[in-house]
Amino acid sequence: ANLSISPTTASQSPLQIFVRAKKRINDIYSEIETYVNDSCKFILGIPDDSDLITKEELLIVNGHVEKVKGIKEVLSRDHMKVAFFGRTSNGKSTVINSMLRERILPSGIGHTTNCFIQVEGSDNGESYLISEDSSERKNVKSVSQLAHSLCTGSLGDSALVRVYWPTDKCPLLRDDVVLVDSPGIDVSPNLDSWIDKHCLDADVFVLVANSESTLMLTEKNFFFKVSARLSKPNVFVLNNRWDASASEPEFLEEVRGQHLLRTVDFLVNELKVCSTRSEAEQRVFFVSAKEVLQARINEFKGLPINTGMVADGFNGRYFEFQDFERKFEECISKSAVRTKFDQHTKRGKAIVGDTRNVMEVLLERASAKRAIKSQNRREVLDHLDFTEKQLQLVTVEMKDKICKMVEEVEHKVSKALSD
Ligand code: GDP
Repeated sequence: ANLSISPTTASQSPLQIFVRAKKRINDIYSEIETYVNDSCKFILGIPDDSDLITKEELLIVNGHVEKVKGIKEVLSRDHMKVAFFGRTSNGKSTVINSMLRERILPSGIGHTTNCFIQVEGSDNGESYLISEDSSERKNVKSVSQLAHSLCTGSLGDSALVRVYWPTDKCPLLRDDVVLVDSPGIDVSPNLDSWIDKHCLDADVFVLVANSESTLMLTEKNFFFKVSARLSKPNVFVLNNRWDASASEPEFLEEVRGQHLLRTVDFLVNELKVCSTRSEAEQRVFFVSAKEVLQARINEFKGLPINTGMVADGFNGRYFEFQDFERKFEECISKSAVRTKFDQHTKRGKAIVGDTRNVMEVLLERASAKRAIKSQNRREVLDHLDFTEKQLQLVTVEMKDKICKMVEEVEHKVSKALSD
């Protein structure tokens, strides 16, 4: 039976909630930029002596031009970030590789991740890495090359190496998810600086636990620190290496029940990141990352995902991993929209409002000036009118006078003649 849930088409993936929102808010900010820039250009074109605009108003609009530019830059770089934590060898790198459907991060014996590794989509189809201590792009063609680069570096355990990977095989990278692998929380004394440097902008945390043992105090303590800095972080718990349970089927349900009970207690009562037990149950999964990775590599090669060389219960575990991915995608995209775009939406509204206020005041002042001008013009016209009338009057009077004079003269002349 083919049990792989058919790969979700791009438009169905919950990640699209973020992808679409990001496109939308970027489009809106382009419009805001045009509006604010046009307003600013208009204001700068007003002659200084016109008294139409104050210095403060000009500063407001000018400041918004810079602010919009900055926000646009941040928005275009925004992504969804998931950080993986756990004890060494619980399988963090293997979980990340399974989600990426490819062996990208080195894992296994002989390799321990001793710095933070962030995997994100590459913009040019090539794979390369940039480490914190230089801006040089180092090409990486293979996992072993990457492992070598990571080992030779003299970076501290809080340092970050960014790995850029082609997105064609990895839907998560294509949809703007960035995955961060961390050194084991059992070996580092720098947990506080880790949190400050790498966790404050993470949308989701995945604790990769080992289902062969119970949650350790080091694992719990780390998440207590995280939740002290972030209000209600989104935490998923993967009980990895669940394939090992297949060898003891008689205890399987009991062990699962115990793990679930303790992990749900941890999320609800101790960490208080989930309000109800049923909400917390949706955050705990029993998986085998190793099996999923192998299955996906087979699938990519066109082989059946279940080659028959797997432990009993593979189908259930594979399905549970896919269930985790679906819930994870839903959670991360909604959370990222809220934390990344909510503030910027409000800010965008305020910027447009401020600019409009300035433009409206400007318009009011301009129309008041025009009204005064036309009033003045009317007075001049009235005056002209009056003068014209005066002239008319004057001419009429003159005519009358002259007529009278002529008549008088005529009269006198005719009288003289008759005398
Ligand atoms: P990390 O140190 O947490 O990153 O752990 P790795 O991903 O490097 O895994 C450590 C070892 O455990 C590797 O040899 C993996 O192949 C193996 N491993 C990882 N996940 C599983 C699993 O689900 N089942 C089994 N049996 N082995 C696993």
